[in-house]
This record gives sequence, C-alpha cells and structure tokens, in this order.
Amino acid sequence: MTDLIASRADIPTAKRIVVKVGSSSISGENVGQIAPLVDALATVWQRGAEVVLVSSGAIATGMPHLKLDARPTDLATQQAAAAVGQNLLIFRYQESLDRYGIVAGQVLLTAGDLENPTHRSNAQRAMERLLGLRILPIVNENDTVATHEIRFGDNDRLAALVSQLVHADLLVLLSDVDALYTRPPQEPGAVRIDDVPFDDALAGVTFGDIGSAGVGTGGAGTKVAAAKLAAASGTPVLLTATHLVAEALNGAAIGTWFAPAPS
Ligand code: GLU
Repeated sequence: MTDLIASRADIPTAKRIVVKVGSSSISGENVGQIAPLVDALATVWQRGAEVVLVSSGAIATGMPHLKLDARPTDLATQQAAAAVGQNLLIFRYQESLDRYGIVAGQVLLTAGDLENPTHRSNAQRAMERLLGLRILPIVNENDTVATHEIRFGDNDRLAALVSQLVHADLLVLLSDVDALYTRPPQEPGAVRIDDVPFDDALAGVTFGDIGSAGVGTGGAGTKVAAAKLAAASGTPVLLTATHLVAEALNGAAIGTWFAPAPS
C-alpha cells in the first residue's frame, strides 16, 4: 500500500494516514479541539484517503467522573479512569464525526498484541476491513490489560506500531508543541528542527521531562522514539501541534519532518 510521500508537499496525496493525538490536546479545557481535529480528518477522508486516529485521553476524560481533580498516581485507578473515560471519548468523536456522516470504529490494542503473530494478524485483518468499509478506526491502548502507554508515552509508541501494522504512508504525531526543538522550547537558545534525515542520531538534542502537572505522559523523547520506529519501517512522520493539524494535512511547511528509511 505504501506510496512514497517524500516530503511535506506530498502529504495531500497520502492514501493511508495515521494521526496520533495526546490526552492534553483533547480533554479538559482542550475538549473543544476535538471538533477542529475531526474537521481536518474529515477533509482528508472526503478526498478518499484512509484515516486511522490513535487517541489517548481515556484517563483524562474519565477523571471528572471519578471525582478526581488530578491524574491518579496508582495504576489501578488510572486503569479504572480509562475504562470510564474511553466510551465517553469515543462518544465525543462519533458525535463530531456525525457532522460528516463518518462512522468510527473503536480498536483497543496493546503492544503485546502486535508482537503476538495470531493477535497481530487478527488486528491487521480487522483494520483492513474497517478501512475498506470506510470506517474511521480510533485506536487506544487497551488499558485494562496493558499499561505501557500509561507509563511511558501517551500512545506515541502505539501509534508507530499501528503505522507499521497498516503500512501507513504517513504518520502525523500531534502534541502541544509545534515542532521538535534542540532543547525544551521554553529554554533560551532552543532552535526548531525542520527536518530529520533518516538515521540522524539527533546528537546535541536535549529532551526535557514532561513535568507532573499535565494529564499526558509523553514528551519529546517518546515522540522522537516513536517517529524513529515508524521511519525505520518506511513511514515518514510529521511532528506538529494539534491546532495545526489542518495545515499539516494540507502539506504546509510546518512541524518537524522525519524522513523514512530508503526502500
Ligand atoms: N491509554 C491512556 C489514555 O488513553 C494513555 C494515555 C495516558 O497515559 O494518559 O488515557
């Protein structure tokens, strides 16, 4: 399936796109970003492309329903919040997708599922059928049985594994920051990185930690690791901010581009 999307300018011709959005972009005070995100996905879907959304946010969406003001610190309560929040999250996406007559399919996966050959081929077959039926799959980690993304990355790695699974020709990783910088962007001297050639070790780039105030668990480090994983299997990656998704999918000269491995 993979067509070569050699640069941002080719994005408008991508046929199979995985878009990943993090918890803090679509929950709490940013719940209003779901509608413009869906607008951008629907535009791409309407031109005939296949779109997979990998969305975190189950824990953050479930928190108020468990009367929690802050992200729970113990895993079991995080899992409980995810179980409560996941259906509401899907409901919100579906409500927004209804404006375009698009139907969502909920897919809950673990990294382990994608390593187990039987589970992997089941997941692959289901995803292919969903896409063939013009459904928009919305993927999250199956938090009741797995906790990798809760602990290490807010679905960044899962998004790369899903891109491999469906042989996506583009992965778009969305976050609160518009691009990768040489150091955390609020620090003096941080310089935006436009392009990352394949296999660039990014020597000299410093990743900050994501702090403890937010509801997400990913940071620049998990995004870069995920981008490299996808790029190594031939999928180019654009890293940018959630509010820039429409421009990104239009091929605008924004974000950080990770070139894929030469085929
Ligand atoms: N699957 C989790 C969620 O949707 C992962 C993200 C997180 O760590 O907040 O909430």
